[in-house]
Amino acid sequence: MRLVLLGPPGAGKGTQAARLVKKHDAPQLSTGDMLRAAVAAKTPLGLKAKALMDAGSLVPDDVVIGLIDERLDSPDCARGFILDGFPRTVAQAEALQDLLDRRGLSLDAVLELAVDEGALVDRMRKRVDETLAAGGAVRADDNPESFKMRLEAYRAQTAPVSAHYAGRRQLTKIDGMAPIDEVTAAVDRALVDATVGRG
Ligand code: ADP
Repeated sequence: MRLVLLGPPGAGKGTQAARLVKKHDAPQLSTGDMLRAAVAAKTPLGLKAKALMDAGSLVPDDVVIGLIDERLDSPDCARGFILDGFPRTVAQAEALQDLLDRRGLSLDAVLELAVDEGALVDRMRKRVDETLAAGGAVRADDNPESFKMRLEAYRAQTAPVSAHYAGRRQLTKIDGMAPIDEVTAAVDRALVDATVGRG
């Protein structure tokens, strides 16, 4: 299963990706997680990305395209992968197409979790509260100012990615406002349709 999950920050991509990983035995490729690992390890890339991420801005396309290019060659990606948080710009979507073409691969589906914008800030706050209650570390970009920037980056740079895939008839929209299990059921149905549609 080769899949792209689209949706604004707080849409529930990570939650659904974790379930898809179990079900399809394919890894979740989250550029956000890869970048946070680079920041934590203080690699040159991490040091460069940190300020942009903390502010809620996107890191340059070539950085994330490079991360995905490298990751796609890992043996665990042979069975497929769930892309979460990539592509986030139309340029990244075009680069992904190239990376897949070069490997003779194609996407099975592109799913967008659609969520009312008003609900997203509340979800972020809830995530912060739950993380603190569990004694965990809150993400540096889970604060109101950075979150506002993340939403703006989404609107300006990532919403066009949905239109890009819709224009290619690859996009399936899922209601991300439904309870988590219902979203999972809708995702499963969309994947069956996508695979059947392909014959
Ligand atoms: P979110 O929960 O906001 O979707 P992620 O964990 O996917 O967050 O990403 C966190 C941050 O990492 C982003 O705000 C951005 O700075 C950077 N980032 C992650 N993926 C990409 C990408 N594909 N292109 C550019 N920047 C990215």
